[in-house]
Amino acid sequence: MRFIADFHLHSAYSRATSRDMHLPLMARWGQLKGLALLGTGDFTHPAYFQEIREELEETGDGLLRLKTGGTNSPRFILTAETSHIYTQGGRGRRLHMMIFAPGISAAEKINLRLARLGNIASDGRPIFGFSAKDLVKVVLDTEPDCLVVPAHVWTPWFSVFGSHSGFDSLEECFEEETAHIRAAETGLSSDPAMNRRWSALDRLTLISNSDAHSPANIGREANIFTTELSYPAVREALTSGDPARFQATIEFFPEEGKYHFDGHRDCRVCFSPEQTRQHDQICPVCGRKLVVGVLHRVEALADRPPGAGFPGAVPALHRVPLEEIIVEFFGLKGPSKRSRLEYLRLVERGGNEFRILMDLSLEELRSFMEPDLAAGILRVREGTVRTVPGYDGVYGQVRVFSPEQPEAAAACPPASRQLSLF
Ligand SMILES: [Zn+2]
Ligand SMILES: [Zn+2]
Repeated sequence: MRFIADFHLHSAYSRATSRDMHLPLMARWGQLKGLALLGTGDFTHPAYFQEIREELEETGDGLLRLKTGGTNSPRFILTAETSHIYTQGGRGRRLHMMIFAPGISAAEKINLRLARLGNIASDGRPIFGFSAKDLVKVVLDTEPDCLVVPAHVWTPWFSVFGSHSGFDSLEECFEEETAHIRAAETGLSSDPAMNRRWSALDRLTLISNSDAHSPANIGREANIFTTELSYPAVREALTSGDPARFQATIEFFPEEGKYHFDGHRDCRVCFSPEQTRQHDQICPVCGRKLVVGVLHRVEALADRPPGAGFPGAVPALHRVPLEEIIVEFFGLKGPSKRSRLEYLRLVERGGNEFRILMDLSLEELRSFMEPDLAAGILRVREGTVRTVPGYDGVYGQVRVFSPEQPEAAAACPPASRQLSLF
């Protein structure tokens, strides 16, 4: 069957996360989006794990579902994220890792192991002083059917290739465990095409997830599978990267991510990689080192030109979240009661958000929305949008309704006007 999955999100037990992030509401939003499979996130947290055990039931195929959910309620897959802060090769390293577990008892065994190695109750995303390599070893020794995946691999501050605390290769980070790394999460600020410029990543399956900290952000990036809806089938699709089973990813335009370009948020300096090189990575306003973003870092490690293809690569579909399109269409300053009501009305009529963004024809869209709004959705599918890149934690912008205007003159969004939707 064809289904869409978002593996990486956070519960109310994670820092800076909405108090609404509990399983029933996650399932509800997963359904609105059109997701058949949702990561639980945060299964390492004791109180949240308790909620998982009370509110979900195993379906016998390594997945779970809400005990109270209807037949259309999405399945859950046990996932968690860990943070690793340590020194290796004389440098401070900080990176985030994702864990996939094949069921409650496997997750419980992993939690017992991790509880001896650090404080798993402190945060939904626990912080450990041991290395990412050791995490791979600990998790796979405990449960070989788990999957360990580096999270948002280009983020400057907390990722395996991040400009400020990462590594220059997978092998440098994971050493003899490298062969166990079969997939990587691209994050919002990069897309598969950027990653495919670096041949060292050719053997990895590239996945995309929302990393949602609030319900409405669930599914803003996701993965389309054509396989059985079960843990073994999903694991097999992820480790093989077979396009017959892992059909495509759903992506932000990478410019919209918070770290696409380089810069300083407080100094309102937003630079392309080229501009940063011209300034020797120094901020012209404050004189400190600029935060080097994802595009710059990809260019530093890439061994292929932009746009170079990769035979057999899983394709990527760039989309803009529907409520964001509605906000721009109505000329609103940001998400509001009006945009949310219109969102819910459209999703009710269209079935779910992904059907509206990807599947319905122009005619079908026009049967329940204003023609210009439907035309905007078609333009997103064609990629005829204008983008202003994000930098140093400031979201970029995508403009859907004025694509005929010339390319914004390399203008970056002012820090105060970031397009943070929810
Ligand atoms: Zn993370
Ligand atoms: Zn500065």
